[in-house]
Amino acid sequence: MKVKCVTLGCKLNYYESCALGEEMERRGYQVVRDGSADIVIVNTCAVTSRAGMQSRQEVRKAIKNNPGARVIMTGCYAQYNPEIADSIEGLAAIVGNAGKASIPHWISDNEQLESVALQPESFGFSGFMPADALKARSFMGRSRAFLKIQDGCNAFCHYCIIPFLRGRSRSLGRAEIVTEAKAIADVGYRELVLTGVHLGQYGQDLKPEHDLTFLLEQLLRESRLRLRLGSLQPQEVTPTMINLLADEENNLCEHLHLSLQSADDQVLASMGRPYGQKDIMFLAKTIKQLNPRVNIGADIIVGYPTETEEAFKNTFHLLTDLPFTYLHVFPYSPRPGTVAAKMKDIVPAKVKKERVKILYELEKAKKTASYKEYINHPLRVVVERVHKSKGELISLSGHSRNYLNVSIDDFISHETTTFFKREIKVFPHAFDGLKLLAKIDSQS
Ligand code: SF4
Repeated sequence: MKVKCVTLGCKLNYYESCALGEEMERRGYQVVRDGSADIVIVNTCAVTSRAGMQSRQEVRKAIKNNPGARVIMTGCYAQYNPEIADSIEGLAAIVGNAGKASIPHWISDNEQLESVALQPESFGFSGFMPADALKARSFMGRSRAFLKIQDGCNAFCHYCIIPFLRGRSRSLGRAEIVTEAKAIADVGYRELVLTGVHLGQYGQDLKPEHDLTFLLEQLLRESRLRLRLGSLQPQEVTPTMINLLADEENNLCEHLHLSLQSADDQVLASMGRPYGQKDIMFLAKTIKQLNPRVNIGADIIVGYPTETEEAFKNTFHLLTDLPFTYLHVFPYSPRPGTVAAKMKDIVPAKVKKERVKILYELEKAKKTASYKEYINHPLRVVVERVHKSKGELISLSGHSRNYLNVSIDDFISHETTTFFKREIKVFPHAFDGLKLLAKIDSQS
């Protein structure tokens, strides 16, 4: 029997889909990425109204393109709107986030699956859930590995629906994380991305309590993988973590992705975010003073109800002044059930669009300036893609430790087939506006 996992949304969903696929393979099913399947699991997202719309579309597409298949809807949109099951003809089951790990069991014991379209207990959140039992050690042909070390969130930022869909923050134990990291290294991965819903809350629920920095120090001692951190809030980046990020001799990548959302104090306060402009400036400047090669990126929401023209300008000016290399910019999307959804949405869609455009123009200028600094400076890249045409190798591509996009188009005479997933040393010789073009170091 063929199983297909369709994934929307974040790295966490991706990790869980990989784990579901692995569990189905352990149970003798064949996991396919293309073509039709007998069972399709759609792992949905509800972070914005657009993500919700795309999730419904993917479920309907799965039912249409896989006639006779059992289609299971799970993930945050299933959790957010289980009633949707009544309006989607041909859906076999809808399973909440807490029940994800049980899906393989329900599928192989299809008796249960056939009879109950809705799995009520899968929508509840209590304690450490089976959902967290999902483990992945292969990543659907990708060269970088992921590890979900935390789930849920206790913050309830005023615009965010996630705490209602993924429950309270809970963490995987350190010993289990080290075991998974070693297993992932043993199957040939060179880079591991640590991910969670709210990574900065890692360890707060564990006994004895400890934080992400403590975990990082242990992982750097015990694992040979290069580690990359998922997104963090400014106040969660500890002085020790700053030193670890800046130190190019350890295995922690010089890359910090900040979930900022705004850089205006009044907007941040009305979002319920626990930091301000001063914290952002202090962090960015401290890191760059320690090591200018640490690459900093940020998530920004534009058009939040309280974001006046003045407030947007404050965000723009701070991002202009600070050493950010890239931005992910999202137009605010009201989520019913959140505090902000009750606010009067004062920013017209046209203005949101304009603000997204302005910030991406800023990003383009900053990225160009930053990338050009690396021409003729060696970088270590994990090869993520091998580009071929008519069997002929054209180029390799991947990310450097400090998350620069690199294309390797000059291989000298290296036997290149073995490069996928490997970390290689390269010398950038140009920037084409999107990525660095590099040649391989003769010693790689
Ligand atoms: S920290 Fe805020 S934005 Fe992030 S998941 Fe939690 S509530 Fe949502």
